[in-house]
Amino acid sequence: MRWGICIIAVLALLLFSACAQQTGPKYRGTDFDLVIYEPSEEFQDHIDMLQASNFIDVVEFIDESFAESPGIVVRFQTCGAVNAQWRPSSYEVAICYELLDYLDNNEAELNMEDAPEDFDKEAAVTFFYLHEVAHALIDVYDLPVTGREEDVADQFAVILLANHEADDALVASAMFFYDRMETVENFPIWSKHPLDEQRLYNLLCWAYGQNPDRYQDVVTNGHLPQSRADRCGQESAQAARSWGRLLVEFLNEEKAAEIRKKI
Ligand SMILES: [Zn+2]
Repeated sequence: MRWGICIIAVLALLLFSACAQQTGPKYRGTDFDLVIYEPSEEFQDHIDMLQASNFIDVVEFIDESFAESPGIVVRFQTCGAVNAQWRPSSYEVAICYELLDYLDNNEAELNMEDAPEDFDKEAAVTFFYLHEVAHALIDVYDLPVTGREEDVADQFAVILLANHEADDALVASAMFFYDRMETVENFPIWSKHPLDEQRLYNLLCWAYGQNPDRYQDVVTNGHLPQSRADRCGQESAQAARSWGRLLVEFLNEEKAAEIRKKI
């Protein structure tokens, strides 16, 4: 008898936790802000820059690509750390003002040989945003991942940027990682992430693979070894196809038709 009660209790518990852990899109309807800027006197300059930029277009592009808005909100906020992260409990990508501050303060260092002349903070933030969106989509649509999720998220960001001729963001981010390799040993944002050197090579490789003409210089200048570069077309095409297959069933009709031609 006791066992019977016990089994019922366990079953009830399992059922409850299954319900509590149920994943799937949390559609918010249409009446919500996709981007939230938490007020901050200290970081008002960053808020002004972001509001005057095209950042919102990228956020809207992501949101509108799906048949139903997945409702992923971006929250810019003060965190006390240089960070960006997907927060499943609140369905938000949080980007810390401190990250923008960091990019500002290191602009001079980033203007190294072969770096873009005017390191673009907005561009780098776009890359970080897309990386976190990839984590969000994996969570929201319960997508299978059979490798390091960090690499997969980087692939998503690179593919999107390279296919929208917005790959300055990519160059800016790659240079950011290059800078990190040189100067900081412990950087909280990348605690779960591959070594920055590896990330840099991966980003350059996938960018080159998606657009060899534009990125020929990274091979010519020796930033990407030829032996690796030879495989980048195949590597990035495979990543793009995989992401396409994973997402196609959730996309709106127009996007889905476009993606089906490529996968
Ligand atoms: Zn990540």
